[in-house]
Amino acid sequence: MPESVWILGDQLLHDHPGLAPGRHVVLIESLQRLQQRAYHKRKLGLILAAMRHYAVALRAQGYEVDLRSAPDFVTGLRAHLAASGSTRLVCMAAAEYDTRQLQLSLAPMLDTAVEVLPNDQFLVTRYPPRRAPVRMEPFYRMLRRQTGLLLDANGEPEGRRWNFDADNRQRYDGRPVPALPTFVPDALTRSALDDVEALCPQAIGSTDGFALPVTRAQALAALDNFITHRLPDFGPFEDAMHSHEPVLFHSMLSPLINIGLLRPLEMCQAAVHAFYNGQAPLASVEGFVRQIIGWREYIYYRYWDMMPGLRDVNAWNHQRPLPAFFWNGATDMHCLQHAITRALRDGYTHHIERLMLICNFALLAGLQPQAVNDWFTTCYIDAYEWVMLPNVLGMGLHADGGVTATKPYIASANYIQRMSNYCSTCRFNPKDRVGVDACPFNTLYWNFLIVHEARLRANPRLGPAVLGLRRFDPTQRAAIQAHARFVYEHFVQ
Ligand code: FAD
Ligand code: SF4
Repeated sequence: MPESVWILGDQLLHDHPGLAPGRHVVLIESLQRLQQRAYHKRKLGLILAAMRHYAVALRAQGYEVDLRSAPDFVTGLRAHLAASGSTRLVCMAAAEYDTRQLQLSLAPMLDTAVEVLPNDQFLVTRYPPRRAPVRMEPFYRMLRRQTGLLLDANGEPEGRRWNFDADNRQRYDGRPVPALPTFVPDALTRSALDDVEALCPQAIGSTDGFALPVTRAQALAALDNFITHRLPDFGPFEDAMHSHEPVLFHSMLSPLINIGLLRPLEMCQAAVHAFYNGQAPLASVEGFVRQIIGWREYIYYRYWDMMPGLRDVNAWNHQRPLPAFFWNGATDMHCLQHAITRALRDGYTHHIERLMLICNFALLAGLQPQAVNDWFTTCYIDAYEWVMLPNVLGMGLHADGGVTATKPYIASANYIQRMSNYCSTCRFNPKDRVGVDACPFNTLYWNFLIVHEARLRANPRLGPAVLGLRRFDPTQRAAIQAHARFVYEHFVQ
């Protein structure tokens, strides 16, 4: 009897486990999904273009592919089953909660046998931790051991160290940054971009200048370009920020791996290969492998561990709405002006700008976590619920009470000044805590410590920072709190 595999738009794997000779393939462009909220146009363009190119590639391999537009997934699947005559549907478990629930309830809806295969886009599916819950570092070491990545002949970590973070905290020194590769849209990609403009008027940003990879071959070329040109400097400047260099030495590969054009293991293997060939230093290669099989896998694991309750967490009970400048970048805070403008325009800022600028400010300013998460989901081209919720609510805002990250990631202007060039041309003074020129990050940082002193003191990783409050007498504390009210009134509106 004929059967079909349903492949989701973020599962465009060249070796998808549901592909089998003689099995129909169905891909659905769901209008309900495209129009669900105001996503970034580049993200929607990337997904549609990649799906259409994927269909072409599978047809060239001899598969019967039904790529159809439909009001929603179920309507599209019903129409496909009727047209193909398939009586059995196979799919790979979705990375996201709601779609996985839908898959599990499809059989009675479609009146068809449905098999949901395990999701093999993540290594943790293959190597689940024996004991839960675990922190990121032991989780990462477990995956290093399981995969054999960067282990020497004795099974010990290369360089006799698991972690090179301490070597990877340099300020950008002005060395040339190799340009990102660009991929000129072909006719198929242009038609996808046109459809986004026509079908998604609520989407933000623009498809102008779209140059992202949309095929497996282009994704591999982008990976190769990163490994050759930017990986060597990736480690030392991983945490650096600069007003003229939005990407620095980061890979910009998250939009591709998140839709299946690349696999995590092959990305790590390419980096490790560069180390053994003498093309990239260990600190950079370990730093990159740590991002992929450490953080990325851990985040996915955390998401499934905490869903569905994770959506509603608000451990600090923060309720302030997003200031208007999140939607136009119009703020005098130079660092945020740059990061937010980039996010709105390009759909990308690198990790430290997400964590130590945008989320740091949101946490210190007491912004409502779900509103911040919605903003990230709207703006970023690599945003999917499984990666947003633990990163934004957990790591960035500590709204899960410390399950994802052991401490809130908060910092004053001191950190931003050390890691970037933003403060040198800002109208605020990164040294001041109070007064009209005081950097709002400073005022809000010290105010946060004062307001939450007892709670923070109990956290072994933050206790020492709170000790800094001892320097302030009651008058100085009152001055910080009074200036914090001024900051809220003037800069958090
Ligand atoms: P690189 O710095 O080159 O890192 C290499 C790869 O490591 C990335 O491509 C990514 O796949 C992976 N990676 C690194 N850190 C993480 C992490 N914490 N979680 C998951 N993957 C990681 N990542 C997304 O893919 N989508 C998101 O929507 C997203 N939102 C984030 C929001 C916040 C507040 C924070 C703190 C992090 C977020 N991240 C997200 C994680 C990380 O910031 C991005 O994956 C990374 O910046 C993507 O850029 P890159 O490809 O140049 O990364
Ligand atoms: Fe940002 Fe403060 Fe530095 Fe200005 S002074 S760039 S607001 S950290």
